[in-house]
Amino acid sequence: MSSSWNKLVKSLYGLPGVGPKMAERLAIYLLKYPNASLALEDAVRSAREKIRPCQMCGAFTEDDFCRICTDESRDKAQICVVEQMPDLAALERCRAFRGQYHILGGVLSPLDNVGPDDLRLDSLFHRVTQNNIREILLATNPTVEGEATAAYIAQNLKESGIRLSRLAYGLPSGSALEYADDITLARAVEGRQPI
Ligand SMILES: [Zn+2]
Repeated sequence: MSSSWNKLVKSLYGLPGVGPKMAERLAIYLLKYPNASLALEDAVRSAREKIRPCQMCGAFTEDDFCRICTDESRDKAQICVVEQMPDLAALERCRAFRGQYHILGGVLSPLDNVGPDDLRLDSLFHRVTQNNIREILLATNPTVEGEATAAYIAQNLKESGIRLSRLAYGLPSGSALEYADDITLARAVEGRQPI
């Protein structure tokens, strides 16, 4: 087997959701269709050069602030806290939330050495003191780590007087928010519970 082939398969294997067989199939596809691999190279390079986190919420943007943070029709007094960008995208698709977001960049996970300093928590707490926030919707996933992260944030904001709420999950425990269908997710937002 050529070393370039091995290198290509190895770089694909280990991408989220890609196992060894899928890595080989993707490698064959990319070699067979040069246009597809050039388009992929170009998209990755351009995304890496242009995309950066929004200075307010941490969402992917090509400007200093994202399109949600600069949208005057959004309710600035409501912040929905999510783990990652795909969670924000899922909530936007279900159209049940009209406030702003805050992306943590992960969840607290002592086993993986992820502590409070590794998440965008300081910027969240800072945002809360700077602006007139009425409600914070904690929309971390219903996993052990997601629940622990929501509890940590709730504990830190207990004295703030801000209304704290949690998604009303009709989802099986542990289901990723990004895979929930729009109707289930919209119900989870509308039926959110105070904590
Ligand atoms: Zn933003």
